[in-house]
Amino acid sequence: NNALMWFRQDLRLADNQALTAACDWARANGVALKAIYIATPTQWQRHDVAPIQLDFIERHINLLAQGLASLGITFELIQLDAFADVPAFIGHYCQQQGISRVFAGSEPEINEQQRDQACIQAGIPLVLTDEHCLLKPGTVLNLSGDMYKVFTPFSRKWREIAARHAIFLLPVPAPLGPVLTEPKPHLFNNVTKVSSELWAAGEGQAKRILSAFIQQKVQDYKQDRDFPAIDGTSSISPYLAIGVISPRQCVAALLHDFPEVIVDDTSPARTWLNELTWREFYRHLLVAFPDLSKNHNFNRQADHVQWRNNPQEFAAWCEGRTGYPIVDAAMRQLNQTGWMHNRLRMVVASFLTKHLLIDWRWGERYFRQKLIDGDLAANNGGWQWSAGCGCDAQPYFRIFNPMSQSEKFDPDGSFIRKYLPELASWGIKQLHQPSTAQTPSLFEQPLFNIKTAYPSAIVEHSAARARALTVLGVLKKAA
Ligand code: FAD
Repeated sequence: NNALMWFRQDLRLADNQALTAACDWARANGVALKAIYIATPTQWQRHDVAPIQLDFIERHINLLAQGLASLGITFELIQLDAFADVPAFIGHYCQQQGISRVFAGSEPEINEQQRDQACIQAGIPLVLTDEHCLLKPGTVLNLSGDMYKVFTPFSRKWREIAARHAIFLLPVPAPLGPVLTEPKPHLFNNVTKVSSELWAAGEGQAKRILSAFIQQKVQDYKQDRDFPAIDGTSSISPYLAIGVISPRQCVAALLHDFPEVIVDDTSPARTWLNELTWREFYRHLLVAFPDLSKNHNFNRQADHVQWRNNPQEFAAWCEGRTGYPIVDAAMRQLNQTGWMHNRLRMVVASFLTKHLLIDWRWGERYFRQKLIDGDLAANNGGWQWSAGCGCDAQPYFRIFNPMSQSEKFDPDGSFIRKYLPELASWGIKQLHQPSTAQTPSLFEQPLFNIKTAYPSAIVEHSAARARALTVLGVLKKAA
């Protein structure tokens, strides 16, 4: 009659409803609790999980195992191939270990939901808690009882419900038994990893990042958040993506310092709360419209878009060789750190889908392969928003001008210079304006280009803009 805690996207001890429920159940029934994490390398490959995110997950699993050992709970890393192997394995494991209840946090993605359904159908006594959002998907609905398709009314309703929603954070459960000996390192087999050491690991670290941000930066977030050279956003996304911190912990920490934030539209912390609400919006959409997980266009009119999909241009975009310094610096930030500033995610996504007319799914996939905070709901939402085919998306005819985005959001060029050091000697005008967009003087552009080997602009802005308006014009018709 033992119990099992199955960790997935919830790699934390504190405020973990599934873990608390598992401990309570084990204690009430006087039985042992075991904990597992199941590595599924083939599935991860199919989902294009970034090697840097896998490294981050592995580091957190080891911290989790240590934390569990101090609570007297044994932890095992199981290695299977794909989700399809999971139900049979858990069924067998439960029989072998005398387990009569399995606890886990639910996940919104379609393959994950199907895996859990398959477990339940196989007779596994799986108890799922809903903690990947503050408010459970399916509970924030319009007057007709449907999921909202526009963010602003969703966020209004979300706040209305959240204001009545008491948040009691769960502490780390009390020990279930004597401290166990330090577990040996748990390592994924046959998994390509990229070091995530730039990001300190641990629940304590995530909480420190969150509280430092709320104490020092959240009030200026509204002004600072669009400037990639300023460290003005929370950088909490890698931790939220794998559940090292919960959305409840984020909202509770915000409410602690800004108790008015949910009800007062003028609260200085409201803009940041809004971003957490965008996160929930996209997760609720993923559950309401499971086809999104399969990368279908939300607006099916987009099925008729004739993408150009030029592989050389795609490679230039991936490698930061478009000749637009702001785009290239952003892509280098992604390639070097596994993270990209939100303003730049919008700029590069717009550039790929509108200037180069490359299918948003190519860019979405590349992001997943590189991002430490890769998250299907937010990534899919962000890409479809940028391409103009998503739910409450940026209209297809709004095409970011990369030069004015550069001037506006990196006015002194310091972000560009950081990631494109070969352009250190360029004047500010040149940094914002790619080579074809100006008439190069005899001594300026060509000489610098030879010196730095920095490419000429891959497309000319106004021509690309005109082309995009024609090709994406099919999106004019409503979804
Ligand atoms: P902050 O500005 O401090 O925001 C706090 C948190 O709110 C974030 O950590 C994140 O969890 C959430 N959030 C903020 N903005 C958004 C948004 N637009 N949509 C959904 N959630 C949001 N975010 C991811 O977590 N994973 C992704 O794979 C991802 N892909 C994106 C792709 C594109 C094309 C775009 C335009 C955006 C994407 N985002 C993604 C959203 C956003 O860029 C990041 O969440 C943000 O940059 C993370 O930095 P931060 O933690 O400092 O954010």
